[in-house]
Amino acid sequence: MSDSVEVKVPDIGDFKDVPVIEVLVKVGDTVKAEDSLITLESDKATMDVPSPVSGVVTEVKVKVGDKVAEGTLVVLIASAAATAIPAPAAPTAAVPPAPTPVPAPVAAAGTFAGKADLECEMLVLGAGPGGYSAAFRAADLGMRTVIVERYATLGGVCLNVGCIPSKALLHVAAVMEEAAHAADLGVSFAAPKVDLDKLRAHKEKVVGKLTGGLTGMAKARKVETVRGYGHFLDANHLEVEETTGAAQDKSGGKKVIRFQKCIIAAGSAAFHLPFIPRDPRIVDSTGALELPTFNNALPKKMLVIGGGIIGLEMATVYSTLGAKVDVVEMLDGLMQGPDRDLVKAWEKQNAKRFDKLMLKTKTVAVEAKPDGLWVSFEGEQAPAEVQRYDMILQSAGRAPNGKKIGAEQAGVAVSERGFIPVDSQMRTNVPHIFAIGDIVGQPMLAHKAVHEAHVAAEAAAGQKSHFDASVIPGVAYTHPEVAWVGVGEDEAKKAGRKVSSAKFPWAASGRAIANGAEYGFTKLVFDEETHRVIGGGIVGPNAGDMIGEIALAIEMGADAVDIGKTIHPHPTLGETIGMAAEVAHGSCTDLPPLRKR
Ligand code: FAD
Repeated sequence: MSDSVEVKVPDIGDFKDVPVIEVLVKVGDTVKAEDSLITLESDKATMDVPSPVSGVVTEVKVKVGDKVAEGTLVVLIASAAATAIPAPAAPTAAVPPAPTPVPAPVAAAGTFAGKADLECEMLVLGAGPGGYSAAFRAADLGMRTVIVERYATLGGVCLNVGCIPSKALLHVAAVMEEAAHAADLGVSFAAPKVDLDKLRAHKEKVVGKLTGGLTGMAKARKVETVRGYGHFLDANHLEVEETTGAAQDKSGGKKVIRFQKCIIAAGSAAFHLPFIPRDPRIVDSTGALELPTFNNALPKKMLVIGGGIIGLEMATVYSTLGAKVDVVEMLDGLMQGPDRDLVKAWEKQNAKRFDKLMLKTKTVAVEAKPDGLWVSFEGEQAPAEVQRYDMILQSAGRAPNGKKIGAEQAGVAVSERGFIPVDSQMRTNVPHIFAIGDIVGQPMLAHKAVHEAHVAAEAAAGQKSHFDASVIPGVAYTHPEVAWVGVGEDEAKKAGRKVSSAKFPWAASGRAIANGAEYGFTKLVFDEETHRVIGGGIVGPNAGDMIGEIALAIEMGADAVDIGKTIHPHPTLGETIGMAAEVAHGSCTDLPPLRKR
């Protein structure tokens, strides 16, 4: 006999209207208890809703893009009554501050009895910001450390094909835009001439300076680098298939490394939509950063799939370089992290930048023809006609590399989606193996990876370090920048939390007016009971450089008086943070008087 079990979204903390980003089952699928059914993604965490029973899926009540909250019915399962287990208290959250429950240790599938070529106390797999920071910290704490990396340079995605090259190009785009607007200020320049080879060389030089610096710092710490693909043989051995050349060709050489402790920092890779064909004109962010040309020219018409930060940053670069850019986004808004008022101000400034901004719309088919890439869309803002593009950037998210490293051989648990669950010391279910960075969950950001790296290395060295950051700032380095941290006003209100907010419009900032940025604003969010600042956001130039002050204020438990009475230099954009705090406690004299109630 079988019962019909209703699977509802369990307690997911203060979140409401959380988008469904993946539906992992369909009607007729057989599932086991604890198998993931759907994946939700708030700005803080990716969460899988697991099945409470074993059985067969009879109905799926949600689809990708739907928004859910605690209690939303998601799936019906016909189950053998005897297999039912109590409903889980909460879905598995992939990031701090609610770390994923770490599965109990399981026996490693692998046992390696052969001879090792190299022995170390600490092995770090992957040399991105997480990996190199972990390796350097471990070495500084006295561990003999080896780092394994398939690429020729250290630095991972961030330094080689992520944060740094994108900012090198965004800087050039900003200079071009400033020069174009300078005519309004009385200084005119000729139209820019772009030398693509020089531009690429500039970007490579920036990357080379940083990655070269890391090589020097590894040497200075006696951290040994082994180049190649690493995969676990068991819980104390990793095999490295050596690589060579820019294409990461396997050279045939192999090395076995025996380690006492390990930190997995193997990162993530761009997610490729399965129905999109392989074609040199269809690129991910790595391809877009190469500034490819077609018929000796940059694309004239480009589609960006995904209105997240990476897509919008690259859209900013290409549109400044002359491309007509369309952006298609499945959800109802761009940039899922910040409050909507920040995004609205950004959209206003970027209204002329994009040809079509298609929200609640999906790309459903792409045909690669000699005369272009022909794309069909479905959804609220889908054009009726098939559209032609010279280039498509796929930036629909990144997937963790957890399933590509033979983790099961070491007994390390990996989630359905490839994330590795860890505790607050970044320890996996295997006590001497840690994991950090993109591979452990959202937000996939370099500064999160670095902090986790230090915690893991310190915990491995026996220290009582825990990842207990209250907030992780996010920044879109677009024009203008958008930066946010902590609890958003929108999110707090939806969750029924009593908050107040205070805004300082940059139209009242001397520096912003002088810089032509009076459209920007700075906002602080306060808890109504404790009066402490719990969040904030900034839109305008250099927002990313300033958001750290609000993060510090939140970590220090500051209130509006603490921030407002801190003397900020004048005239700076940074003083708008102090002034927003003054607005909150009613002492701001740079705005018209507040109306008496
Ligand atoms: P990664 O940087 O992904 O490094 C993992 C490393 O492991 C890689 O070098 C990989 O080659 C290696 N590796 C993987 N598997 C193996 C294996 N089996 N054997 C050997 N080596 C292996 N974040 C920000 O904070 N700010 C930004 O401005 C920003 N901009 C971005 C722009 C773009 C275009 C992209 C794509 C990302 C951006 N990010 C940004 C995200 C940031 O790059 C990542 O969050 C960060 O790099 C994660 O660090 P990590 O150490 O976890 O992993």
